[in-house]
Amino acid sequence: MNYLGLDIGGTALKIAILDEAGNIIASSNYPVNFDNYNTPILNTAIEKSEIFLLENKIDKLEGIAISATGQIDVKKGMVVGTGGNIKNYQGSKFKEEFEKKYNVRTTVINDANSAVLGEVFLGNAKNYKNVVMVTIGTGVGGGIVTNSKVLNGTLGIGGEVGHFSINNKGIKCSCGNRGCYERYASMTALIKRVKEELNIENINGKEIFEQININESMKNIVDEWIEDVAHGIISLVHIFNPEIVIIGGAVSEQKELFVNKVEALVKENGMENFVKNLEIEAAKLKNDAGLVGALYYHIKGEK
Ligand SMILES: [Zn+2]
Repeated sequence: MNYLGLDIGGTALKIAILDEAGNIIASSNYPVNFDNYNTPILNTAIEKSEIFLLENKIDKLEGIAISATGQIDVKKGMVVGTGGNIKNYQGSKFKEEFEKKYNVRTTVINDANSAVLGEVFLGNAKNYKNVVMVTIGTGVGGGIVTNSKVLNGTLGIGGEVGHFSINNKGIKCSCGNRGCYERYASMTALIKRVKEELNIENINGKEIFEQININESMKNIVDEWIEDVAHGIISLVHIFNPEIVIIGGAVSEQKELFVNKVEALVKENGMENFVKNLEIEAAKLKNDAGLVGALYYHIKGEK
């Protein structure tokens, strides 16, 4: 059985054919911001899907599974809000348009929620029923799975773990609130602290971690940042009581210097019954998480 999968991001669109086991049989990437979004992403997605299916000689589809950036109303399968400034994106009716064109059931889910489902389907949270995923990147994203179901909330935008406040007198956030977790625990926040405190003009996350062992002040800033990351995770663990916490984002590749340290802090500071058997692991799926998770939602999610 062939499923069409789309992973729609702010800069690129990935289109793939997957089988029901989540194997990616063919895939291609296409830019979506080639004309500064004057061509709406929805139009690009439809046009490129047609080309992709022709090129791969696929004429029968079992279903269409879409993972998309921004706030997605999962029932309507449309974009109801954007995290960034993507022109002509809000209001895109992916479900309606794809069902009209291909006449097969189409599901749409937010990319952070599809990432956690990808880990449940084929990644490091396989066979786990209660999972919290926190992705550390430019912002902080995430997804929550309870009793094997992703927490979509009323519209499908639940599990926005970057925007619970850890300090009501803290830094003003782009979401309108103050002191959001993302303002402290994102890679952007770490880089900002390093630049300000060490008077460095240009540095990225990878370079920061390369310098930890030779630069004491760098190490101290990173340690403080890891404490912020860990304390947010402790709050999530107390709320959702997961069996496993999956950490995503490029920094999760730093096992010794990051994941293990977060784990130690969570175990040390969380309530005993919540943390004694808790596992903390890096995400496994990387770039395919969105496609694989969207397919899992398509097959196993609410019909
Ligand atoms: Zn916020």
